[in-house]
Amino acid sequence: MPDQNKQIARQLAEKIRANVTHPMTIMEVCGTHTHALFAHGIRSIIPPELNLISGPGCPVCVTSQHDIDIMIKLASVPTLTICTFGDMMRVPGTKGSLLTERANGTDIRVMYSPFDVISWAEADPSREFVLIGIGFETTIPSFGATIKAAKEKGIKNLSILSLHKSVVDALEPLATIPGVSVDGLILPGHVVTITGIEPFKILETEFGTASVVTGFEAIDMIASIEYLTRMIHDKTPKVLNQYTRVVKNEGNRIAQEIIKEVFTPCDSNWRGMGNLPGTGLTLSKEYEDFDVLKRHKVEMEESKEPPGCICGQVITGSAKPTECPLFAKVCTPANPVGPCMVSGEGSCSAYYKYSRI
Ligand code: SF4
Repeated sequence: MPDQNKQIARQLAEKIRANVTHPMTIMEVCGTHTHALFAHGIRSIIPPELNLISGPGCPVCVTSQHDIDIMIKLASVPTLTICTFGDMMRVPGTKGSLLTERANGTDIRVMYSPFDVISWAEADPSREFVLIGIGFETTIPSFGATIKAAKEKGIKNLSILSLHKSVVDALEPLATIPGVSVDGLILPGHVVTITGIEPFKILETEFGTASVVTGFEAIDMIASIEYLTRMIHDKTPKVLNQYTRVVKNEGNRIAQEIIKEVFTPCDSNWRGMGNLPGTGLTLSKEYEDFDVLKRHKVEMEESKEPPGCICGQVITGSAKPTECPLFAKVCTPANPVGPCMVSGEGSCSAYYKYSRI
């Protein structure tokens, strides 16, 4: 960190200590923020009365066990090639994972962008390539643009399992998680870059929750905590944008249009939060032919969470990873029991990486 920033950080840390005159709880909604707080050493400079808890902002972690099992079941259909980001490969389903399926000879590919799948599908018309669509508003536009491009090119051997979730549509359940009292929210700057600020204003008007949109640099995060603790101290909750160099009030209109054209809201199952009506995204009428579950019927057995895993509580901020009896004993990044230890955005992987130093 440059010297000038170190000085600013010290001044902000002083102000945070002055603001925290009583116990306060702030939730970082996004898993990348959880990792950034550790990586920048910010937890070590905040007063003990300020409780930082992780929220449900890791898309891999909040995907329900049933949806993971569907993904693994699709991999067993001989004509399908499953295409996914690397994180999903190791997430344990009720029986096995995509990685174990691949070890058994199934054609499963790791993509770096959904657009990779267009060229794979064009190169091998004998197989159907299935995009595993997992993510929030940050990544949904690239999946939408891929499906739109496939339609325009007349590609028939490409489909999608859309397990996308909307942070915006889940704001009410996020702000009112039963048994979890949150005074302030650190909002995910990358999501709000797409959606714009307006949809988040209900946090101020309906829930009275102090919220700050912020980036991922150390100064961004310290400044956002200073804003939040000041608003909580002064009892003046608002939605503020600290990340103005990236986030515009109106968001990214082109990305919003793609989401609206290709997808439509549906109910969605969240790990730890259950079925949240209208928080998922399925294909719109115009693109429903690309829905893999409309093309292939899969017979599902009962899904079971990994025994002993408390990811559901970790995701909702009602337990810390270190409270899980399996943490760092049975469950490690090399041998993950639940998704929060697998994902690069997962809270358990952040605590494992940084809190044991
Ligand atoms: Fe699940 Fe492992 Fe985290 Fe425990 S430590 S909650 S088993 S991912």
